[in-house]
Amino acid sequence: MENVRCLIIGSGPAGYTAAIYAARADLKPVMYQGMQPGGQLTITTEVENFPGYPKGITGPEMMEEFRQQAERFGTDVRFGVVTEVDLSSRPFVVKADDGKTIAAETLIIATGASAKWLGLESEQKFMGQGVSGCATCDGFFYRGQDVAIVGGGDTAAEEATYLAKLCKKVYMIHRRSELRASKAMQHKVLNTPNIEMVWDSVPEEVLGDHSGVTGVRVRSVNTGDARDLAVMGFFVAIGHKPNTEIFAGQLKLDDQLYIHTEPGSTKTSVEGVFACGDVQDHYYRQAITAAGTGCMAAIEAERFLGS
Ligand code: NAP
Repeated sequence: MENVRCLIIGSGPAGYTAAIYAARADLKPVMYQGMQPGGQLTITTEVENFPGYPKGITGPEMMEEFRQQAERFGTDVRFGVVTEVDLSSRPFVVKADDGKTIAAETLIIATGASAKWLGLESEQKFMGQGVSGCATCDGFFYRGQDVAIVGGGDTAAEEATYLAKLCKKVYMIHRRSELRASKAMQHKVLNTPNIEMVWDSVPEEVLGDHSGVTGVRVRSVNTGDARDLAVMGFFVAIGHKPNTEIFAGQLKLDDQLYIHTEPGSTKTSVEGVFACGDVQDHYYRQAITAAGTGCMAAIEAERFLGS
């Protein structure tokens, strides 16, 4: 069993910021990067609202810089996934898929959130064959073609404008008649000539054959009428769910399964366990707020160890 003073799970802005602060406080942090090293920002386009990058930066580049900064101060960054935790007594016992078992004096959870899917059988069937959850990753494959995206939030709006630059036409399917996205993003979407809004509609079935997706059947929530859109790509951007499965029953979660933290703190229901970033925040969900709570978690872990 390996003894660690501060174990960090997750490698988005929250995890890396916690690592930078914990390493500088000499806690010798160990980080398990998780399923998606760098987190959700690695599948985003340009980040233009993170202070310090006046010209903007791509998500993957930004996370690479976060990683380098965390390693510069001595964080042991490991490629691997934590599969099991036992938070019933300290040190906490944590198992990872590299076969290691770790006794952690403090635990910082920064496992973030993952994209949601519609839950259609046909969505699953054509996953990777025209169905995608990431326009930045897969948009390139649909250059010059017609595609559809579902969702009305900032992610869908951002991805729709990204796809509009590559594709001939983008249908943006939304279940209401008003977008949830910020006013600036709404303005962009509604003023992009090759984005066609499909209001008050929900995808009912992804259509396709042996070659992959050929279309999507959408149904109007007002009239009940169905309409087939001929598209080669179908992108899903309908929000996220927190990655809290391995903590269920051990930490207090809220009704949407996000980790409950004390107001103004990253303290969880178990002493010595701190949570930061999107895994405990369904309200702000920004890289900068995740980084802020990552900093708080490291400072709180340091004070906890010193008390
Ligand atoms: P979101 O704001 O939760 O939006 C999800 C969208 O998907 C909503 O429009 C929702 O419809 C729709 N939806 C949810 N479930 C659906 C279903 N089963 N079928 C059809 N439609 C469904 O998620 P998000 O866009 O991923 O954004 C998450 C957070 O990150 C937000 O706080 C956002 O501001 C932030 N963000 C910021 C930036 C940026 O600042 N550059 C970029 C991306 C994201 P309703 O509107 O009807 O609920």
